[in-house]
Amino acid sequence: MVTLVDNHHRRLTYLRLSLTDRCNLRCRYCMPPQGLPLLPHREILTYEEMLRLVGLFVGRGVNKIRVTGGEPLLRRGLIDFLSRLKGAAPGVELCLTTNGLLLGDMASALRQTGISRVNVSLDSLDRRRYRDITRRDALDRVLAGIDASLETGFDPVKINMVPLAGVNDDEIADFGRLSLERPLVVRFIEFMPLGDRSGWRPEMVVPTEEVMNRLKPLGGLEPIERRPEDGPARRFRIKGAPGEVGFISAMTDHFCPSCNRLRVTAEGRLRPCLLSDAEVDLKAALRDGRSDAELAELLTRAAGLKPRRPTEEVHRPMSSIGG
Ligand code: SAM
Ligand code: SF4
Repeated sequence: MVTLVDNHHRRLTYLRLSLTDRCNLRCRYCMPPQGLPLLPHREILTYEEMLRLVGLFVGRGVNKIRVTGGEPLLRRGLIDFLSRLKGAAPGVELCLTTNGLLLGDMASALRQTGISRVNVSLDSLDRRRYRDITRRDALDRVLAGIDASLETGFDPVKINMVPLAGVNDDEIADFGRLSLERPLVVRFIEFMPLGDRSGWRPEMVVPTEEVMNRLKPLGGLEPIERRPEDGPARRFRIKGAPGEVGFISAMTDHFCPSCNRLRVTAEGRLRPCLLSDAEVDLKAALRDGRSDAELAELLTRAAGLKPRRPTEEVHRPMSSIGG
C-alpha cells in the first residue's frame, strides 16, 4: 500500500478530523465569551465529502482516525456518520475527543458505532473553577459522561487536562489520583500558543517536569513501554494504579520526530502540522469535481508541507483546527 510519508521520513498514519467549529463551552484559552464567528453550514464539509476523503487517506496508510472539533457531539447525524465511517474503513481505529457534556446521553450509541477510545477534556474537578475556565456550569455533566464512558466499555477512557499556572495547577495531584481510583488514563498537555485570543503567555505553561514533581507524592511513576501508536505521549503508571498518566510536552520536549499526524479542519483544509499555518484546501478540490487521483496528489503535496518542526506563529485557535 502507498503510505503518506513526509520529507523528514515520518509516516503519516493518524488523521484528526474536525466535524464542526461549533462548541457548547467557551474555554478561556480557546474561545472568546461570545464564541468565534461561525462558518456558514455550506462551508463545512458534508459527511459524504468526509467519507470520500477518509477513503483516500485510508488507501494511503492512515490507520487511526480521531473525530474532534469544536465539539463533535454537537454535529447532527453523528452516530449514523460514524457507523458509515467504521463500515467503510473497518480496520481503522476510531477515536473521539469531546468536552463530555453530551456523553452521558450518547456514550452507548457511540460505542455501538465502533468507536473504541474516548478522550474527555477536563481542566478542573472543582465546580466553580470549571465554570470559570469554561464559562459554563457543567462539571456534573462531564463527570456523568466519564462514568457513562467507563460503564459502556470504552478502552481506554482518557482525561485530557491542560495545566495552567496559577489557574488549575494545584489540582494536578487530584487528576493523578483519578488514575489510582479508576482505570482512567490522565493526559497532561502543555498549554500551546494557538490562536490570537488564547491568552497564552510563556509563564502560564506548566512544564511536564513540574507536573511530574507534583505527582510524586502519589507514589513512584513507573514508565510504560512505548508503542509506535503512542505518538508524542510519554506514558507512566503510578505504582498500583489501574489507570495511567501521560504527558504531551509540546513546549518543553520537541516531539516532532515522532509526529504521525495530519488534520482536516471542519471546512476541509488539510493541515500537516498543528503548530504551522500551512494548509491545503481539499474542499475546493472536492467541489471542483476533481478525480480521486487528483485529490490523492493533494494529500501527497500536503505531506510534503509538513515542517520538521514548527516555524511560525499559529493564528487559528484549537477549536477551528481540530485539537
Ligand atoms: N471540544 C472538544 C474538547 O474540548 O475536547 C474537542 C476539541 S478541543 C479544541 C481539543 C483539545 O484541545 C482539548 O482537550 C483542549 O483542552 C485542547 N486545547 C485547546 N486549546 C489548547 C491550547 N492552546 N493548548 C493546549 N491544548 C489546547
Ligand atoms: Fe470548546 Fe474544546 Fe475549545 Fe473548550 S477546548 S471551547 S470545549 S473546542
